[in-house]
Amino acid sequence: MKVLITGGAGFIGSHIADGVLAAGHEVVVLDNLSSGKRENVPAQATLVEADIRSDEAARLVREGGFDAVIHQAAQIDVRKSVTDPRFDADVNLLGMLNLLEAAVAGGVQRFLFASSGGACYGEQDVYPAPESHPTRPVSPYGASKAAGELYLGYYGFEKKLSWCALRYANVYGPRQDPHGEAGVVAIFTGRCLKDESCTIFGDGKQTRDYVYVGDVARANVLALTSDYVGPLNVGTGVETDVVELQAGIARATGAKTPAAFAPPRAGEQKRSCIDPAKAGAVLGWKPQVSLQQGLERTAAFFRELLARAA
Ligand code: NAD
Repeated sequence: MKVLITGGAGFIGSHIADGVLAAGHEVVVLDNLSSGKRENVPAQATLVEADIRSDEAARLVREGGFDAVIHQAAQIDVRKSVTDPRFDADVNLLGMLNLLEAAVAGGVQRFLFASSGGACYGEQDVYPAPESHPTRPVSPYGASKAAGELYLGYYGFEKKLSWCALRYANVYGPRQDPHGEAGVVAIFTGRCLKDESCTIFGDGKQTRDYVYVGDVARANVLALTSDYVGPLNVGTGVETDVVELQAGIARATGAKTPAAFAPPRAGEQKRSCIDPAKAGAVLGWKPQVSLQQGLERTAAFFRELLARAA
């Protein structure tokens, strides 16, 4: 297959590019390098540097002869979506519509979308949440992800585009940006490797579902050739609180400095955890990397990065 990966110079997209190439497909990456890095793009992939909202991107999707689009490019910062919801919608919705219109015109067969479990479900009624859980986003970012899925429903029904929205849990692993808002594992790992104290907001009992990026990439590779249409959770079904997470990262890095506690952050979700059973049933996908293994791989990656920078 000839596959276009938007956001393929970013954290998750670049791991997907590795996986799709390893499965024997051809890969073109579309990325404006706003947070992505050229060096993340695998050597066997072609990088087209353009914005997903641009005419150039639409032309590429329309005329590139792609069998599938794996759409990862996004405005990913939840807090930025709150301060500038129009920018969030511009990239996450209008950018996606630009790609969808071009995909239909260009005869693309399959469209995968990086959605978000935590941001779409909001405060959950049950733990872990299945795909049938109501979506109640509590941020413009979550609203743009949920709306993206609604648009996919329309393109699937009306334009016969085959699609799958992979609702990721909290993804972590090598290449995550430690300066971003999203990556608590990357931030804590960076601090622990320098034996600096990690800041835990509130009592540290907030839980998340941490899924290793290699497992997320594998879910995308499987979804690429599946004919399943609809949303799929890509998480572990396991809740881990921030205190446990910090302890695991301290073990993986050998850090000794204890964490510091700071007042809770306004509006932060208390718990989030998603049920991966359906991805198991339709894709045969299961997370394979345990949290401690994943934290060790992440620590090894950032340790090497620090050593190279020194
Ligand atoms: P990332 O910032 O590392 O990757 C996003 C990539 O998109 C970057 O390479 C960036 O340069 C590119 N990009 C951004 N705006 C663009 C635009 N207008 N045109 C072209 N390229 C653009 O983030 P990530 O963590 O790898 O996230 C990938 C996807 O997964 C996003 O859609 C995100 O919303 C989703 N997601 C991530 C998580 C997580 O835990 N990291 C959880 C749920 C969903």
